[in-house]
Amino acid sequence: MENKQNYIDQIFSLTALRSDHWRHLLALSRKWCMGKTDLVNVRNSFEMLQPLEILHAYPGKKLMAKLSQELLEERKEAFASLVSRLSFSILARYYKEDPSEWLYHDDEDPVVNIASDTPHRPYFEVLIVAPDNSKSVERNVRILLNQRQKDDDFIYEPLVVHSFQDAFCAIAVNNNICAVAIFEGFDFASRLPAPQLNRVMSDLHIEEDEDHVALQLAIAIAEYRPELDIYLMSDQRPQDITDDPRSTCIRRILYAVEEPTELHYAILEGVRLRFETPFFDNLKRYAHRPISTFHALPIARGKSIFKSDWIRDMGEFYGKNLFLAESSATTGGLDSLLEPTGNIKRAQEKAARAFGAEHCFFVTNGTSTSNKMVLMAIAKPGDIIVVDRNCHKSHHYGAVLGGLYPYYVEAYPMKEYSMYGAVPLIAIKKALLSLKAEGKLDRVRVVDLTNCTFDGHVYNTRRVMEECLAIKPDLAFLWDEAWFGFAHFSPFLRPRTAMGAAANIEKWLHEPSSLQAYELQQAELGSEPSDETLLHTRLIPDPRQVRLRVYQTNSTHKSMSAIRQGSMVLVKDVDFYQIEPQLHEAIFTHSTTSPNQQLIASMDVARRQMELEGYGLVSNAIQIALDIRHQIKNHPMVSKYFKVLGADAMIPQDFRTSGFQDFLTPGTNWSDAAIAIRDDEFFLDPTRITLVCGTAGFDGTQFKNILADEFSIQVNKTSRNSVLLQSNINNTRSDVAQLMHVLLELTTRIENELSRSGAQGRSKFEQRVVSLMTDVPDLPNFSHFHDTYREDVNQKASVEGDIRTAFFKSWDLANNEYVGLFSEECDKRLKDGPPMVSAKLVIPYPPGFPILVPGQVISHEIINFMRKLDVKEVHGYDSSRGLQLLKLE
Ligand SMILES: *Cc1c(COP(=O)(O)O)cnc(C)c1O
Repeated sequence: MENKQNYIDQIFSLTALRSDHWRHLLALSRKWCMGKTDLVNVRNSFEMLQPLEILHAYPGKKLMAKLSQELLEERKEAFASLVSRLSFSILARYYKEDPSEWLYHDDEDPVVNIASDTPHRPYFEVLIVAPDNSKSVERNVRILLNQRQKDDDFIYEPLVVHSFQDAFCAIAVNNNICAVAIFEGFDFASRLPAPQLNRVMSDLHIEEDEDHVALQLAIAIAEYRPELDIYLMSDQRPQDITDDPRSTCIRRILYAVEEPTELHYAILEGVRLRFETPFFDNLKRYAHRPISTFHALPIARGKSIFKSDWIRDMGEFYGKNLFLAESSATTGGLDSLLEPTGNIKRAQEKAARAFGAEHCFFVTNGTSTSNKMVLMAIAKPGDIIVVDRNCHKSHHYGAVLGGLYPYYVEAYPMKEYSMYGAVPLIAIKKALLSLKAEGKLDRVRVVDLTNCTFDGHVYNTRRVMEECLAIKPDLAFLWDEAWFGFAHFSPFLRPRTAMGAAANIEKWLHEPSSLQAYELQQAELGSEPSDETLLHTRLIPDPRQVRLRVYQTNSTHKSMSAIRQGSMVLVKDVDFYQIEPQLHEAIFTHSTTSPNQQLIASMDVARRQMELEGYGLVSNAIQIALDIRHQIKNHPMVSKYFKVLGADAMIPQDFRTSGFQDFLTPGTNWSDAAIAIRDDEFFLDPTRITLVCGTAGFDGTQFKNILADEFSIQVNKTSRNSVLLQSNINNTRSDVAQLMHVLLELTTRIENELSRSGAQGRSKFEQRVVSLMTDVPDLPNFSHFHDTYREDVNQKASVEGDIRTAFFKSWDLANNEYVGLFSEECDKRLKDGPPMVSAKLVIPYPPGFPILVPGQVISHEIINFMRKLDVKEVHGYDSSRGLQLLKLE
């Protein structure tokens, strides 16, 4: 609030900042009425709001002018009362529903045709970028406004700005904007103080191009918020613009003097296209048709429930629509998820476009199934996949099912917190180069990585793919973005999504300078560069050779408004025509033949939401996360016992070459972050918040239970000494307040306990902290597959193994033996052999990564780690029987 020059700087905080400003102004104006503050304070506070308010349609010029007038004439009561009304309207968003919010006096003619007698209509704003003082534009805006009807599906208000920079600020901070109309002839530079946004724009490489400012603005907006419909009102012949290939980001080009009516219909149609949810819309119609069912689904139409004496409460709990919408039919327009031709197909096409993919497939069995489908479709038995050993179990099982040979690559460890980071690119390149040296590169089909990881490590997806493609140009990529689906709707995170990176690589492939860059690098590398050189060079692929093949899976239910298990496979693959029949087989293999209608509908709806309000929701989630980080760090009491790990703690310096430390490092702002996002090998997803609780004497599981049982706060996952909090598109600032309240209460409890129990108690507490924070077990690396499960044991360098044979070997009981984890035999076998070979995928929770896979030789380190683990849940290990091993022949 104090920092007057910089208040428009931080894009993410602007929405919150705007509310704070209004709250502040309200408080001051009340004080002013009571004679407790001076006019000058009120005026300063009011002036700080002005540049923000020109980026929003409400309150708008007229009401702001009224406010200004009351202030000028020092009518304290009237000023305070208007501030109060406007600020509540902004905070509670009354203006979207209530036409009187737009009036100064009740008896005025309505300025907006939000009619209270019509049912709820979604409200949005249309950004109009136009020259100042242009009579023809003013006339056009007036005509546009007069087009609006009470029976339009949506209600919109125009927001007029006069410069490129204001337009850019507006789309960055105003979440209500759904469409943009650009009239030629506006200024480039803003008259607002917005130094930081200017910097963001210089990072976006926007410099005024005087001949094409309008097109340039369209491109910049499309890059930042691709979901917006952009209209260009031009004085030129439309062909002159459409001839420019960059103009594809414009939805329609209209001849400015003639077409304000057309513009109105185009705006509504554009929003309607995003609003339309083909499957859900039809499901609603279907549910309300009279239908007799003779198919096998007793609960369809709810008759077996509502007529029952015994289970009627289920019907009352869920409501009748759930049952009316249940069906096993694929008729009545319900379409078939396994072979969609109708509205599921259209819903998937819309989702593909919304997420920047070429194809999208809805999956109703979670990303666990999506991953298996993709692996099966793109690789065949005997193929090698380079895969993160810490990936979700579905990838390991996918390899078992598909007979793929996993070549495990290792993430860097974060021993202090008993968790892993992400896999350094050098490890991936090493794997590819050693496979190449052994003549096995042609068997390598996929690089399979988790983006972001559970704890929030985000890959430099573009760099990983480019460098791998430089070694093998037709390699496919599977990016498991189970947690990261929302990221497409953040302009900052989007380039780090699989689809965002694929789009940028595709663009690069078509630029003439790319081939030059490649050839230059080839000349520098010479004819036979050593592996050492290749490992330490940022490799450029040959744009003529590259086959760009990118697959992304996301658990739509984990970051968007889909029902649990809703998952999407997104595809951008130039060779998809070859894969498509295989993908269909994979879908047939893994899909249920009874997909749930509600789940499919929820994915359709989740897509609609993200396209219409995803930008604002994701910005808010990021803002909440930054708020939590900030408040914990700066609270004098809470910060004594709790801390949130910043990027500097989660990512070693070597992987942050931009010098980015953390979001909260003094002097850091979002343009520094934007550079880190572009350049650094890893970036931390701000919404995934590792809260260290070991320093407060709690282990992760214990702390999670306290939060859940005593305070009804659910957290995501735990490690030995931390819990993971996640901010989401559903969080509000009250959640931040509640969390801080709880942490403060726990802090007080600890302090009281410590002061009560004296020196002895304190030393016990300190011991506990040391044990949680310092006496942490080493994280065991993947050892190796036993020779039995390797093809060519003479080639020692590459480490892929036949996980499938090992997995099924244990089916024959005679092939199994058990050794107690703590037994002498175990120690003896480690020392003298024969080697112990795991029969199982063994995964302790936490930390949740597999410490053993079938066919893997058990090492000292693994035994030590398992012995130190004090968790109850270990999948694949039965403590009463011991380690399940495969006998050796
Ligand atoms: C949760 C998760 C999955 C599995 O997704 P579901 O939708 O729960 O089946 C796969 N990969 C990662 C990284 C996950 O976190």
